[in-house]
Amino acid sequence: MSDNYLTVIPTDPYWQPGEDAAERAADALSRMLPDDDARRGLEAKWHDGVEVVWCGSNLKRISCPHCGAECAPGWWADAVTERYDEGFPTLAVAVPCCGAGTSLDELVYDWPMGFARFRIEVLYPNRSWLTDAELAALTDLLGHPLRQILIHV
Ligand SMILES: [Zn+2]
Repeated sequence: MSDNYLTVIPTDPYWQPGEDAAERAADALSRMLPDDDARRGLEAKWHDGVEVVWCGSNLKRISCPHCGAECAPGWWADAVTERYDEGFPTLAVAVPCCGAGTSLDELVYDWPMGFARFRIEVLYPNRSWLTDAELAALTDLLGHPLRQILIHV
């Protein structure tokens, strides 16, 4: 398998769990992994500011959630860099295609990626996407809806 990272993040980029909830979710995710090699790669990470959870070369296209037009990669990179430099006080952005006000987090990423201040990351998970039931179980333990990002580097 070439899956290199499996990451789960809260759907709200600014949300962070308490340590107990994070530990319970991390334990549960650990039990969803096929072997000890995969379990060794698991880590829960808190960030002071919002971090980009990048999907690497898997990213094929970013598009507008309102009109469906493709966002130019240069525009997107500038918008992220600008906010990154300020520590992501906001993800709000106006898209150039139709002028709609949206959020960097709400753009449609063809290959999922996201923004987060908390993540549980597994290096070399040795498995593919979590099932809906697995993700729902983690959501219950963490106390917040989650999304997942599986990265092949
Ligand atoms: Zn648009």
